[in-house]
Amino acid sequence: MTSLARRLVVYFVFLAVVPLFAGFLGFTALIERSEQNRVDSGLQASLRATLATYEDELLGAQKNAERLARTSAFQQAVARRNRPVLSAFVTDLPGSRVVIGSLRIGKTYPYAGERRVQFVGVKKSVGELIVSVPLNSTYLRNLGTMAGVASNEKLLLARGNYVLNAKSGAGARAKLNRDGIGRVRLDGEDYRILVSHPVTTRGSVGFALATPQARVTDAVFQLELRVLFVLLGFLVLMGTIAFFEGRVIVRSVGELARATRAIARGQLHKRVPVRGRDEFASLAVAFNEMAEQLETRVQELEQERQRLREATLLFSEGLGVSHDAVQLLRVVVESAVEATRAVGGVITGPSGERFVAGEPEKGTEQSEWSLRAGREDLGTLILYGDRFGEEELELVALLCGHAAAALDNARLHRIVERQALVDGLTGLANRRRSEAALDEEIVRASRLGGELTLAILDIDHFKEVNDHYGHAAGDVVLKELALILNQSLREIDTAGRWGGEEFALVLPGTDTAGGARLCERIRQTLARRLIPIENGMTISITASFGVAGFQRAGSREQLLAAADEALYRAKRAGRNRVEYAD
Ligand code: GH3
Ligand code: MG
Ligand code: MG
Repeated sequence: MTSLARRLVVYFVFLAVVPLFAGFLGFTALIERSEQNRVDSGLQASLRATLATYEDELLGAQKNAERLARTSAFQQAVARRNRPVLSAFVTDLPGSRVVIGSLRIGKTYPYAGERRVQFVGVKKSVGELIVSVPLNSTYLRNLGTMAGVASNEKLLLARGNYVLNAKSGAGARAKLNRDGIGRVRLDGEDYRILVSHPVTTRGSVGFALATPQARVTDAVFQLELRVLFVLLGFLVLMGTIAFFEGRVIVRSVGELARATRAIARGQLHKRVPVRGRDEFASLAVAFNEMAEQLETRVQELEQERQRLREATLLFSEGLGVSHDAVQLLRVVVESAVEATRAVGGVITGPSGERFVAGEPEKGTEQSEWSLRAGREDLGTLILYGDRFGEEELELVALLCGHAAAALDNARLHRIVERQALVDGLTGLANRRRSEAALDEEIVRASRLGGELTLAILDIDHFKEVNDHYGHAAGDVVLKELALILNQSLREIDTAGRWGGEEFALVLPGTDTAGGARLCERIRQTLARRLIPIENGMTISITASFGVAGFQRAGSREQLLAAADEALYRAKRAGRNRVEYAD
């Protein structure tokens, strides 16, 4: 049994069994009292009837005595004090006696009511004719019958509270209340007894009416039994109702508890059956609603988590794989929109490149973030949405932090990459890149045919520039030459710093003669250029060029050797000139 069921049983005992038991006790007390009253009033009625009957008897006796006293024969006998005549009269009138002065004729009875008739006797002395109705056992029986005393009632005599038992002759003392009602034990049996006031002239003896106490007890027992059965029936009925009601309550509560435990364990689909329309039913409805909401909420959270996971994945993948600023900017704006559920977003890169995700025009609110790494401005992100919560803003802040770091990495990567391929002083391709460009063009020319020309140029007497004007001036000259080269070449050509003050020009689709013409133009431009160095001074310099064609050379090594050889020739021939391999 569950503790709730146990408690319901306790409630039932307190609310039904205890009151019923108390009621039963009250009832029995009431029954006992009313039964006693019923018996008592029976006794009272019988006693009244007995007293009235006895009074009639006495009145009858008195009338007989008066009638006798009025007869002249009796009066003559009195006047003459004629004892024999008077004795005859007394014998004729039962229970009578005559008292005239000292003359007494007739018997005196110990327990008897008396009536007196007075008359004037001899010498005006007063005489009395006295009649008694003696209360012997035979008379008592007759009196009882005459008075209609019930068969289960006994008519007895009592003196005070001492009850005289006619049958055994022995008496017993009764316990009486002020109304003369009480109990007495006669011949080993308990009686209910009612004692009257004294009715005898001498001895103060009265009537007593007794009825067996068992009468009351039996009747009470019968009644109590009946009440007990009714109450038991009632109790069984209540118990049955309470049992079924209690079972419904215990079952409903049990179902709720089981469902709650199931939900606590994560079985959110769990519901409880709704029965009827009582409070338990509304509790079940409320519980089911709660479970429904919980389930929906968990699903939403799961979706949200999934979405965030995807966004994070997209974001980190995007950030991880790419050093491409354009791709990064795109990933950042898309991830930010996805992660914050904004309706749209716009990101602007440092060089003004702009990317849009979603539909920014549909947003009612905007949130602007600048992407910075140190003092480096890496772009601006603007998100458009309906409302941004604190969580979303935190997320964007985090995202922007990572995005800025990635963008900065990409920027640094670009610098490093450039540094690996670009000559720091002149901004031209470095030796590595120049050789790579040459190799690429050699592969292309070998495969597809077509012209390819390599020119190598070397500044004349450059050492002297350094010596006269300083190394810085030498650097300025190198930069100026690089400028001229950049301006003179086509998009597909590559100008590279071959080393020191030596430069290489890779000219795809150009034959040796064309290359030589280009070099000549460069030579003239350089020779005419006044290069400003410090203190408003200008210097001019010249360079020598060696040009060779790939088709003619046949291989990379041959091409380089031919170009070198041509340059050597140009130097030997007096510098500031263009030579090419035939
Ligand atoms: P020529 O080629 O006409 O025979 O004479 P040159 O003086 O140019 O020949 P050389 O090869 O002997 O001198 C090259 C000089 O270039 C030596 C070096 O000090 C200078 N040089 C090389 N690289 C740089 C540079 O990056 N900056 C400066 N200022 N000078 C450089
Ligand atoms: Mg040199
Ligand atoms: Mg030189």
